[in-house]
Amino acid sequence: MEQNKFSKHIDIMNIEIADPFWSKEIELIKNEVVPYQYDALHDRIEGAEKSHAIENFVKAGKIADKLKNGEAVPVYPADKWHYHDGNAHPDAFHGWVFQDSDVYKWLEAVGYILSCHPDGELKSKADEVIRLVCSAQLENGYLDTLYIINNRDEIFSNLKDFHELYCFGHLAEAAVGYYKSTGDKMLLDAACRFADLICQTFGEDKIKGYGGHEIAEMALVKLYDVTGKREYLDTAKFLIDERGKKPYYYDIVLGKETVDDNYHYNQAHCQPKNQHEAVGHAVRGVYLYSGMADVAKRFGDEELYTACKKLIDNIINQKMYITGGIGSTVDGEAFSFNYDLPNDLAYSETCASIGLIFFARRMLEIEPDAKIADTIERALYNTVLSGMAQDGKSFFYVNPLEVLPEASHKDSRKRHIRPVRQKWFGCACCPPNLARLISSIGEYCFTENENTFFVHQFIGSKVNSDKATLEIISSYTDNGKVKFKINPKEKFILAVRIPSWCDNYKFSHSCEVKDGYAYFEIENEVVIDAEFEIKVKMIKCSNKVRANVDKAAVTRGPFVYCIEQADNDKNLQMLKISKNPEFELDGDSVIAKGCREKEIDDLYSEWSETEAEEVKIRLIPYYKWGNRGENEMSVYIRI
Ligand SMILES: [Zn+2]
Repeated sequence: MEQNKFSKHIDIMNIEIADPFWSKEIELIKNEVVPYQYDALHDRIEGAEKSHAIENFVKAGKIADKLKNGEAVPVYPADKWHYHDGNAHPDAFHGWVFQDSDVYKWLEAVGYILSCHPDGELKSKADEVIRLVCSAQLENGYLDTLYIINNRDEIFSNLKDFHELYCFGHLAEAAVGYYKSTGDKMLLDAACRFADLICQTFGEDKIKGYGGHEIAEMALVKLYDVTGKREYLDTAKFLIDERGKKPYYYDIVLGKETVDDNYHYNQAHCQPKNQHEAVGHAVRGVYLYSGMADVAKRFGDEELYTACKKLIDNIINQKMYITGGIGSTVDGEAFSFNYDLPNDLAYSETCASIGLIFFARRMLEIEPDAKIADTIERALYNTVLSGMAQDGKSFFYVNPLEVLPEASHKDSRKRHIRPVRQKWFGCACCPPNLARLISSIGEYCFTENENTFFVHQFIGSKVNSDKATLEIISSYTDNGKVKFKINPKEKFILAVRIPSWCDNYKFSHSCEVKDGYAYFEIENEVVIDAEFEIKVKMIKCSNKVRANVDKAAVTRGPFVYCIEQADNDKNLQMLKISKNPEFELDGDSVIAKGCREKEIDDLYSEWSETEAEEVKIRLIPYYKWGNRGENEMSVYIRI
């Protein structure tokens, strides 16, 4: 691990986004998603499954008050994942065990939005929510409404299945985001009080457990970075080092003997430093790997970093869809075995691609690697964006690469594949996660180390870094052109990623090209023009992926394309694209030559070439699919 390669990302307060593509998405988050989610958290959306998230904080606040006054409080069972009118007392906790996290994700997104769009009304709404959250905190710092409302005696008793450390993680992430964006410390103080309790509770000679849904690890590192409190970093390391040790903590709690490898779902089957293949629940996985990279960097832990490198290589080279989606099986919302990437059964949760972006940026902070920056781009422009409708009003949780609506309705194996986006989910992890990522997108574009400023993503912005002020004027998604107006504060090196999809590029100034980055020596004020030639390309998938043999995907720049029934009629499997299709552009659609096979009525007949007629196939960017009602969609097309 070469410390001189270590970088830091640029904080949101030092980035102002002005981009023809992304500013619209940020506006959608601000104008549609955030107000909608505020109403959803308050159960004000008619016809939507209730969230109960705010209601739980109100209930917990009352209990916390009573406890402070020494009054008796009731006890309800805390033994389920989901509490609803059918299985919970009206005064008890309602919703999923991780419901608090939706409130925190909303607050985090609001913080980021306030950093660039001051809005008094939104700020006072957020502050009111923060006061409510803080009112629920117990005197010892504990803050998870399920256990506060239902049973204080069972706090931290089921770390594997329940989500106290997960909710803490989201609280801390929100608190740091809100503090950095607004300077307000109230939520940060609450997160620190809960963190202090966690540091007192977990460690050598204390509870040697760790959360079943990771995030506390990276969240504690964030708190450490902001507060400088060493215990937070040490506890993050403890949670990682302890994970997967045998006998398993989870078995000890259950009074079970540890016999075989277990707990792959929670990435607790072995110690993280020995994990070399991404397994288990995909979101949990990438959240853990993010925390591992954070800890590896801050401790200079070579062994842990080697594991991180093997994990990200395994994801990128064997377990990732062309869309940047990960977690290919619904069974456990998990990574499957290598090269098992079915299109029509994909899980590919929006949150998992978001987590992959978190992990990838942390890896870039340890060592710049164009392939990893490419992965951020792939996930961002495809699966992450596909998670939200064009009007910002509905969302995908699952992002398949092939959809047949009839199968979604009639085949229970494909019930998780929704052919249209949903307005809100009772289990609503993805929409608020999307909101917090897109509203802080600048933090994923640049890193800087002692002498170099890296541009990993080409999003129009003004950046104030240690080395320079930079204005980036980008029409990257349109024509691959990016202009860098640089006003240096000192002599430095500007490193610009060359996207892996680009065969021809030119820069207005001389540079050294090395490992996927172009390096420019900057001494004086300068304007550098970059042009990355964007071509429509047909992409071949490894023939180890059975689903894609003799098929191709079409890409243009960072975008993966797909075909939809709305443009190409139903039975997309009967379409074939020509080997040399002479692509034409029509707006952001791509038109390709191909043919459509005639339907064969006989279920079986002696083999002969199937008759086909020439057709023009229209492809649209994958992130735009599903915006025209229920219809078939496919990313891969037969050749
Ligand atoms: Zn999700």
